[in-house]
Amino acid sequence: GANRAKNVLILMSDTGGGHRASAEAIKDAFRIEFGDDYRVFVKDLCKDHAGWPLNNMESSYKFMVKHVQLWKVAFHSTSPRWVHSFYLAALASFYAKKVEAGLKRYKPDIIISVHPLMQHIPLWVLKWQGLQNRVVFVTVITDLNTCHPTWFHADVNRCYCPSEEVAKRAALDDLQPSQIRVFGLPIRPSFCRAVLVKDDLRKELELDPELPAVLLMGGGEGMGPVKKTAKALGESLFDQELGKPIGQLIVICGRNKTLSSSLQALKWKIPVKVRGFETQMEKWMGACDCIITKAGPGTIAEALIRGLPIILNDFIPGQEVGNVPYVVDNGAGVFSKSSKETAILVARWFGPDSDELKRMSENALKLAQPEAVFDIVRDIHELSHEQGVISQISSSLTSSFFIPSAET
Ligand code: UDP
Repeated sequence: GANRAKNVLILMSDTGGGHRASAEAIKDAFRIEFGDDYRVFVKDLCKDHAGWPLNNMESSYKFMVKHVQLWKVAFHSTSPRWVHSFYLAALASFYAKKVEAGLKRYKPDIIISVHPLMQHIPLWVLKWQGLQNRVVFVTVITDLNTCHPTWFHADVNRCYCPSEEVAKRAALDDLQPSQIRVFGLPIRPSFCRAVLVKDDLRKELELDPELPAVLLMGGGEGMGPVKKTAKALGESLFDQELGKPIGQLIVICGRNKTLSSSLQALKWKIPVKVRGFETQMEKWMGACDCIITKAGPGTIAEALIRGLPIILNDFIPGQEVGNVPYVVDNGAGVFSKSSKETAILVARWFGPDSDELKRMSENALKLAQPEAVFDIVRDIHELSHEQGVISQISSSLTSSFFIPSAET
């Protein structure tokens, strides 16, 4: 009936790039906006229902980010259309049965893919099952700028692009304007709707109440030149002449335990907090004045919401490289691979160049799209409503065709 809760299946894979974070954000937003009207399942479909190599994607990703050159080759060599469509067609036929079992189990009314490789197989199976007109299929892209072509598939109902740049690429890849929407990258509601006061946060997190603060991190895995940069900041934020610090440092190491223990063992001349994986990033970002990070889309979008100027010090080749101009060209930050240069810039921002810091913070806030995740779920809700009307009409047509003949 019309009041049945709808099933939403979000397809993701824990291969970094904020896919899981986006999936969880969408799930939370559905609950906040629509309560029990939707039942949302977040599934790594390939991991749960398929065999090698798809269930291996996560561990091979971790291996490849450690061997960056290899990742670069893998990323670019699958880019040409004829390679990836052939490759994916082969995979699709091989895994179709298992994907089909996943679809049967969750009986989704709506499928949301937040992964570059999860358009083709599920869409192929839907088509093969004759379900493509009954299930709403949308893609939520989690790259801010350069986009792997496997993200785009002409058969989706919607393709949600985080930026105009990505929308242009989608259009070049044959998606129609009616399929493309630009709302921004979905960020956890607990993050974007938090109302925070910096002074209170400083107290709660036991930070110095007065000194300007720089947040240093490297995604969920604590990647990039974090240790070197921390050491350089330890020097640049200490005023030799006055013999006192001009700033404080917070390092969030994520799951990188080696990094956090080696930083904890160091002696510092400035106030430093070293933390592991934090679950309330909105508070840490809200307590700081700028951030140094690798070019992860999740961290960037969150920093923009908090109005933090961003120093990008690293990126994963291929998927993250385009996030750099997104930040730099929009005046919300700078890119520097040199830890020394980075440390000196922060010292300038906390001293003579505070105007520049302020300007960049304003630019960051202009780019921020805290409502993106809500705009996305509302649009999906409307789509699903339209689809419901269409399939009701078509099923009443079908029954009026078939019932008379069944009676004769
Ligand atoms: N993050 C977190 N706690 C930590 C470190 C990171 O919650 O201790 C979150 C961060 O806020 C962001 C995500 O992990 O939402 C990292 O995503 P990003 O796209 O920046 O990089 P990835 O780690 O996925 O490569």
